[in-house]
Amino acid sequence: MGILDKIIKENLEGEIFYDGWIKCKHMQRGLTHCKECLSVDNCWFYSLKKPKLPHHEKCHCHYETISFPTTKNCIAVCDIRKFREYIFGEKGRNEGKVEIFQMLGFTIEDSEYLKKEYERQALKAYVEGNYKLGKWDEEGQRSTIDIFLEHNGIRYLKGSGCMVKQNGEINNTTQ
Ligand SMILES: [Zn+2]
Ligand SMILES: [Zn+2]
Repeated sequence: MGILDKIIKENLEGEIFYDGWIKCKHMQRGLTHCKECLSVDNCWFYSLKKPKLPHHEKCHCHYETISFPTTKNCIAVCDIRKFREYIFGEKGRNEGKVEIFQMLGFTIEDSEYLKKEYERQALKAYVEGNYKLGKWDEEGQRSTIDIFLEHNGIRYLKGSGCMVKQNGEINNTTQ
């Protein structure tokens, strides 16, 4: 880790904070096995947008500082079935989601393009810390990122739900 990875800043209120990246480390002590704490073990977060640790009484989890992530050592994964089967399939119709994509002129044939575009934008947003923290439960820490879709001369800004995974991975879960 280089010296530039540890940036200490002061905000307008005069509070000192660490402006960098951390990973959550799960510490298991005693007999209880906490699924929520385990779900963020080794997950990387921007220091100002991270799950709050300790999470509960007797939680020994903590943060470790890590180097700034890059688009090279992180990965965003979007399952193509989210488009092929979900958006352009039965479920998408039920939830009215397909209309947005149709309005932009996308069809099921564009599933591969959309998958790659979501991955590209999610990766960039994640490593730049451009995400909002969502709910944290046993499955993990959710976040949302903005996806810009541009097609047929129309621009559309869409929030995408993501799950933060271990070691610099983020998964697009909702489109
Ligand atoms: Zn816990
Ligand atoms: Zn814990």
